[in-house]
Amino acid sequence: MIPTRADVVICGAGIAGIATAYYLTVHHGIRDVVLIENERPMTLTSAKPIEGYRNWWPGPGDAMVRFMNRSIDLLEGLATDTNNLIGLSRRGYLFATTDASRRSEFQQVAAEFSALGVGDVREHLGNGTTTPYTYTPDAPISQQPGGVDVIANRALIEQHFGYLPAATRVLLHARRCGWFGANRTGMYLLEQAQQHGATLLRGTVAGVQVEQGRVAGVHLVQDETPHTIKTATFVNAAGPYVQDVGRMLGVELPVYTEPHFKIAFRDPAGIIPRHAPLIIWMDTIRLHWTDAERAQLAAAHDTRWLLDDLPAEMHWRPGNEPQSVIVAWTYRTAPMRATFPLTIEPRYPELVMRAMTSVFPDLAQYIATTPALEYDGGYYTRTQENRPLVGPLPIDGAYVIGALSGFGLMGCVGLGELITAHITGGALPPYAAAFDLRRYAAPDYQRLLTNWHATWQL
Ligand SMILES: Cc1cc2nc3c(=O)[nH]c(=O)nc-3n(C[C@H](O)[C@H](O)[C@H](O)COP(=O)(O)OP(=O)(O)OC[C@H]3O[C@@H](n4cnc5c(N)ncnc54)[C@H](O)[C@@H]3O)c2cc1C
Repeated sequence: MIPTRADVVICGAGIAGIATAYYLTVHHGIRDVVLIENERPMTLTSAKPIEGYRNWWPGPGDAMVRFMNRSIDLLEGLATDTNNLIGLSRRGYLFATTDASRRSEFQQVAAEFSALGVGDVREHLGNGTTTPYTYTPDAPISQQPGGVDVIANRALIEQHFGYLPAATRVLLHARRCGWFGANRTGMYLLEQAQQHGATLLRGTVAGVQVEQGRVAGVHLVQDETPHTIKTATFVNAAGPYVQDVGRMLGVELPVYTEPHFKIAFRDPAGIIPRHAPLIIWMDTIRLHWTDAERAQLAAAHDTRWLLDDLPAEMHWRPGNEPQSVIVAWTYRTAPMRATFPLTIEPRYPELVMRAMTSVFPDLAQYIATTPALEYDGGYYTRTQENRPLVGPLPIDGAYVIGALSGFGLMGCVGLGELITAHITGGALPPYAAAFDLRRYAAPDYQRLLTNWHATWQL
């Protein structure tokens, strides 16, 4: 039964739409909320993450760190309230390099991020270090340190991360980071929203009715039958389709989509230990090839690049299934229109395994099993500066929560809280303006964008 009216209609039941419905119903007591979703909830982009979270975000400014610290506070609150149904753990993100000369860069980055609010820096540089370094992967979050450790002490690296290549020289361990059950979180928020009045409708939002510059209703199609729900408030949470839905309101959003993939493989030999944190390899990658393979790759224009140094920041973590390891490596991507089913570069799993083997030669034993790997991906929907769009649109009663790039799950509760503060006219946090579409109208912001330089984000 399609309702004829609603207080709020949300397009999309990925994590963005669900978090919005959760905050409207559970925290603001607005019961008459309708979520319209083409597919099943949490099955498009929100089904694809490696489930990481981190307060480790670059500037300019501290908006991203403040926002993520808030979202992690809220995730930790959810974990406490649900007896950790959401599976939140905090082993940190470990950035690693074999290049000893990058020590001062790692120290400088730690100091910069600390100034943005990630927490204190502890340095463990020589054998004479007195600052204690601890890594207790399964200790409760309340007993885990925050802040960041920079380690350039070989003995300490060997003691805690002896499975990394012997050539590893510098580590940066960002501590308020880890992973959690993204689907469980989304389904929990949805269930709570439904218990507090939200309705989930299967259907496609086909248009938004605007009268005298205000939202007046939402047109949807269900089983080829058109319907209209009268409402004064519409939220565009359409993920990779946020631009298409924006255009239903005549609004162009400064976003683009680019594909990102990941694989999972089984590691019965335990080459990546189960107690490892999420590790980011900061060295460029050179794939190993036989002479015959090299000659073949060099012969063709579209494969020659595979002989070059390839981008750093491949990252991996122990997977959720026993013996599994999840790896993501974006060795190249480019903006493209989101289409489904997503086409995954056929060589992606093999190239990732080869790249992992360049770090851990013992993984070569699994190369033969590559065809059995699991792999998938989705689109990062993002703005140029990789910050979200959360707030009002230029039509009264219309809002957007999108461009969630690679952080929509970790940011979900912070985002839900923020968009509903906009909708209900509540107090806005200090980072609200940094995510508001109206930021692009400011000449200073446009100048900042021409020189935007953000590093150390995945
Ligand atoms: C490979 C990969 C790894 C990632 N890893 C992480 C990670 O570790 N941590 C993290 O926090 N984030 C990660 N992300 C990012 C995260 O997955 C996204 O930021 C998040 O899922 C975006 O959520 P969304 O609700 O905006 O979009 P979606 O989940 O895509 O939801 C949008 C929904 O809107 C629906 N919809 C669209 N148009 C219409 C319409 N007209 N009518 C009805 N319904 C409509 C769609 O069917 C869809 O269900 C990763 C992403 C990828 C691709």
